[in-house]
Amino acid sequence: EPAIRVSGVAKTYPSRSGPVEAVAGVSFTVAEGEFVSILGPSGCGKSTLMLMVAGLEAPSRGSLALAGRPVEGPQTRVGLMFQDATLLPWKSVRDNVLFPLRMSGRPMAGATERAGALLALAGLSGFADKRPRELSGGMRQRVALCRALIADPAILLMDEPFSALDAITRDEMVLALGEIVARERKTTLFITHAIREAVFLSDRILVMGRRPATVVAEVAVPFPRP
Ligand code: ADP
Ligand code: ADP
Repeated sequence: EPAIRVSGVAKTYPSRSGPVEAVAGVSFTVAEGEFVSILGPSGCGKSTLMLMVAGLEAPSRGSLALAGRPVEGPQTRVGLMFQDATLLPWKSVRDNVLFPLRMSGRPMAGATERAGALLALAGLSGFADKRPRELSGGMRQRVALCRALIADPAILLMDEPFSALDAITRDEMVLALGEIVARERKTTLFITHAIREAVFLSDRILVMGRRPATVVAEVAVPFPRP
């Protein structure tokens, strides 16, 4: 079974001006350990697709499965990362990283060490006791990446995680992400409208057209990723 299977998925939102068709009949699979980017113009339905993979939105049609298990409601085996880090400002960097474990009530054995190891991997050793406001935007996104990985999720879902950053920080983040994802070997779905990032990071790219989202092209990246 593939890590992610999306079968004939469509999503229509109700709105005051009538129904908005965000996703129309999308099908694809992602193999275990594969890094797949979804590239498309803004507003085409990429976030909606990702929320459905995470079980945070229900499809209007079609079905989704993770490792053969149907997605029905929020999935615990996925780590999420969004455009904004949305860290808790009153908590330390370390406690922000540990937050998903605290919320899930899962056993914490070795968790502090794992948080430390992830922060080190993200170039943030020495920042564990700082508050988020003491960090730059790029550093905060790296904390969000550590938080997404802390519970060792089978799948990492990222929705334009770098689009709020300046160009140089963004390039640095892409390099850091490439390294961390290679090290952790996660199945990853990466949503972006930046073709360079998609080419650099991915095994495969699904190109979406204008809304409603459909896959208009699929490109295998012909060189090994970092
Ligand atoms: P993208 O991530 O590609 O920018 P989205 O999935 O966020 O696209 O949005 C696709 C379309 O669905 C847009 O037209 C957006 O306005 C609409 N949309 C997204 N979320 C909702 C919602 N909760 N209710 C109504 N319309 C929505
Ligand atoms: P990033 O590329 O992660 O956004 P910046 O370019 O803002 O980071 O900062 C470059 C470097 O400056 C960081 O990697 C970090 O070592 C250091 N730095 C930034 N903000 C702080 C801070 N509040 N305290 C200590 N060092 C910092």
